[in-house]
Amino acid sequence: MLLKTGVFGGTFDPVHIGHLAVAERVYCDLGLDRIVFVPASTSPFKLGEVSTSGEHRLTMLKLAVRDNSHFAVSDIELQRGGTSYTVDTMEILKDRYPGDEFYFIMGMDSFLELSGWKGVERLVELSQLVVVSRPGYELPQEQKQLLTLPPAVWQRTHFLEMPGLDIAATEIRERVKKGRSVRYLLTPEVETYIHENGIYR
Ligand code: ATP
Repeated sequence: MLLKTGVFGGTFDPVHIGHLAVAERVYCDLGLDRIVFVPASTSPFKLGEVSTSGEHRLTMLKLAVRDNSHFAVSDIELQRGGTSYTVDTMEILKDRYPGDEFYFIMGMDSFLELSGWKGVERLVELSQLVVVSRPGYELPQEQKQLLTLPPAVWQRTHFLEMPGLDIAATEIRERVKKGRSVRYLLTPEVETYIHENGIYR
């Protein structure tokens, strides 16, 4: 059966309700069959930054999506190790599920950096893109050419406006470190997991 699969890549350090709301919105508005969250081993844009172990990030994702039957988590990038390039991941997924139609999901902040990604032209052959609004990041309407993206990108990208949730993992990590509350920014299971394992302290 042909499935419309949304693929949501990121560091997810940790996964927060901003991510979950984005995924649910894309699932619903684009009529997808499922959303697969793919935590990166090492993001090309976060080289040199210490991130939480893949095992913790994967576990938090699994806890966060557990009660949603159309959400799943894949450890494909963690298993592969090294720097995680989305185009390589999509190549493998397309190979494994040749009949599926893929939609790669990202926030506007990521889209604004897309011209620096490896294999963008190939990426949009393998999947369509879904770009979701994110507070503080705007597409420069008048000067789109400043983004220097191949024309195929614009043909294969859906822009989706949604009520902004100005939540970032960076801020959550900082708050935990300072002992401040992060309640309601995460699912309760993820919050408990962070506290029980002393992550971000
Ligand atoms: P960090 O603060 O550590 O950079 P983050 O909160 O941006 O983390 P990532 O794991 O880097 O989370 O993001 C994964 C994807 O989710 C990216 O494409 C990012 O644009 C998108 N995203 C994250 N948070 C939001 C949000 N609040 N609204 C819209 N998109 C988001």
